Amino acid sequence: MNQKMFVDDVEKDILENVLLDIKPSFNDCIKLIESENTQIIGMVANYISKRRFGNKASYVNNIILNYTNVCITDCKFCAFYRSPGHQDSYTLNIDQIKSRITESWNMFKIRQVLIQGGHNPNLGIEYYENIFKMIHDKFPSIGIHGLSPSEIDMISRVERSSAKEILSRLKKSGLQSLTGAGAEILMDDVKNIISPKKISSDDWLRIMFEAHSIGIPSSATMMYGHVESIYDIVKHFFKIVELQHKTHGFMAFIPWSFESNNTILQGKDHVKTFIGGISLLKMISLSRLIFDGLINHIQSSWLTNGINMAQLALLYGADDFGGTLIGEEVVSCTGARSTELTSDKIVNSIHQLGYNVFERDNLYNFIKYC
Ligand code: SF4
Repeated sequence: MNQKMFVDDVEKDILENVLLDIKPSFNDCIKLIESENTQIIGMVANYISKRRFGNKASYVNNIILNYTNVCITDCKFCAFYRSPGHQDSYTLNIDQIKSRITESWNMFKIRQVLIQGGHNPNLGIEYYENIFKMIHDKFPSIGIHGLSPSEIDMISRVERSSAKEILSRLKKSGLQSLTGAGAEILMDDVKNIISPKKISSDDWLRIMFEAHSIGIPSSATMMYGHVESIYDIVKHFFKIVELQHKTHGFMAFIPWSFESNNTILQGKDHVKTFIGGISLLKMISLSRLIFDGLINHIQSSWLTNGINMAQLALLYGADDFGGTLIGEEVVSCTGARSTELTSDKIVNSIHQLGYNVFERDNLYNFIKYC
């Protein structure tokens, strides 16, 4: 069968180069995003993913602690936050957090607590230090994957201290890795529309650099499907690539699709189209082509796209299902399809592909086959 029936010569050259470990250039990535050949791009991404990981995929038993919904940053894509003093605002105290983790440990033997919340101006660093120390002391086998660069920036403003000092104190308290949240699209023209009060792209990258440089690894994310252009998406990818070449601190990349329900962006001219499964599969594939050998793990993004799409994502270059995310409250405020999974469902979903499944810890270390 003539391959030109499916891909043009430029796409063919790009994909053949990828198979020879030659990374796609900026313009190559633009071309691939514009391509209608998602399946063929996905086949190449799947091939290079399997070349690295074989027929295996991982997941982590975890919970999300959305410790406060109080926030002064008013992102237009967020349905979760409440202003200080709002009747529906909340902040969890250390006893509530301890009992939630105890319950999750007893029921699910979780290996990761993902801690994320709003930019709450009433919380100083001791709030976080006390929580992290408690988790670290009482649950030593649970990794703390907590806070984003913009939360670190908020704490440093509250404390009138540098981000590096804050990171260093949190690391001493037990913070094991930083989340990749708050990146959205690392282009200030985009951020100025969707989250004008949040830290700039350069500040996000600087705080990640500082975290990595003191031995705190992290994930990296991208939230696409709102006001960004294809050019912005590729710039985002290449900014992450540039930092990773310097620090090698990113453990995983997670592309999220934007969920518009209950957000200010919904209904406005900014967001006109629903981003569907093909876009997810394209982003997963592209992530593998760009990051393979540089950022080890590509997550399947089940939270915004559902378990069925996440299963398919494993055939398009992802190698990790992410976590069970018990207790998630941010995306669930948008009414997204599914915001809680059991490990059984994840394991069955991966087995259906004929893959082996293993449970991992926060740092992607093997725990056991399931
Ligand atoms: S996304 Fe985070 S920083 Fe932005 S409004 Fe929501 S809670 Fe606040």
